Amino acid sequence: MAQEDTIQTINLEMRCPICHIGELIMIYKVSLIPYFGGIVLLTIKCNNCGLKITDVVAVSEKGNLPEKYEVKTYTENLGDLLVLSSGSKIEIPELDIELDITGEQGGEITTLEGLIMNIIDMVKILLNDSEDKTRKKVISIISTLKHEKEKPSGSLTIILKDENRRSAVIPNDIWTKKAEDVRTQMMLLDEKSVRKIGQEIAKEKLEK
Ligand SMILES: [Zn+2]
Repeated sequence: MAQEDTIQTINLEMRCPICHIGELIMIYKVSLIPYFGGIVLLTIKCNNCGLKITDVVAVSEKGNLPEKYEVKTYTENLGDLLVLSSGSKIEIPELDIELDITGEQGGEITTLEGLIMNIIDMVKILLNDSEDKTRKKVISIISTLKHEKEKPSGSLTIILKDENRRSAVIPNDIWTKKAEDVRTQMMLLDEKSVRKIGQEIAKEKLEK
């Protein structure tokens, strides 16, 4: 990561949507990425009840992030950073794979290669107690994924969808760059903006 900031705490200045008594506190850490923006790792807690929301949020310096990303499994893309905010979805249409990133996981930050490895592990579980026909399909999926990880041919499409626009695919050559001038990013992710992100996430929790 370009720059590691310290852990900060702010009051979200809003009532807890669950107990309606406590106030919401957010503990967060910002990682600034030159030429992109930043990643916010956050935990929102109520100072009265047990409410706890953990998430990761990508913020672009260019305004709204796209709702959809498509990346092919070529060698140069395997190191791309995937910021998977909760509520986002991964699809690999060639393999009929759909994966929901849930709030319980608190989002995830991984590389494209890391994601492929995670999916292999998840699919493996299906080998245990499934019928022959399913087993054959699962074995073929695992072998395709392993092949793309070891000898990437670009034959698979990784689609990332997030209607909240808090997820991102950050190209390898950008997120590994050294921080030279991060002034724009620091303004982008000042206390006021980060509080707004926290308030939005807490409000969504109320709606669910
Ligand atoms: Zn509460």
